[in-house]
Amino acid sequence: MDRYRRLRETALVLFRKCRESECLSMGMRSYADLADELKPAGGEGKPDCRKGCSHCCVVHVTVLVPEAYSLASWAHENCGRDFYEKLKEQAARLRWVEEEDRPLMYTPCIFLGEEGECTVHPIRPLLCRGVTSLSEKMCRDAIAMSALGEPISVVMDLVQREHYDKAFKSAAEGIEKAGGDARGYELTWAVLKAYEAILSEKEDNTPA
Ligand code: SF4
Repeated sequence: MDRYRRLRETALVLFRKCRESECLSMGMRSYADLADELKPAGGEGKPDCRKGCSHCCVVHVTVLVPEAYSLASWAHENCGRDFYEKLKEQAARLRWVEEEDRPLMYTPCIFLGEEGECTVHPIRPLLCRGVTSLSEKMCRDAIAMSALGEPISVVMDLVQREHYDKAFKSAAEGIEKAGGDARGYELTWAVLKAYEAILSEKEDNTPA
């Protein structure tokens, strides 16, 4: 079976009748593991990406609803109460920022750690998985030049990029068939909404 058809059908099975945070979150993690497993070999050059290099983590990232739940449930389990306050503040600040203006704000992703590491690396969004760079210098220059209104391209592994773009699209198609919300949302806002839904699920389950 074609790998993207397999991913689409997997998403349909995982997200059918799946509306609660745990189901969405665990479903997304299984889906992303399969997307990794099905990644085609090949691609051009050796990525220069490494832990601590985070030039690209100031851009707009689009996530699907189950991805937001996966990230929010991780944060709920692993981060303190101040994470929620920071999340609310950052989501409000970025809410109406256009995608192309986001790098100009130079606001690091809410999940970027103090040493430039992605704190959610094993469960990072599909579109983050697709981004690689063959040159750290190019990434640094691209962000600096976009602030001056002169965007430049970064050479990346296009096989990997295309694979995760298609995996994202296949997930959205499966979710839509399953009757869920298949739209993409800005990461910070989507995680805030999922985090609040998790808080309210926990409150509902607290014995009176
Ligand atoms: S989720 Fe991780 S890889 Fe993606 S933008 Fe945030 S810190 Fe960077």
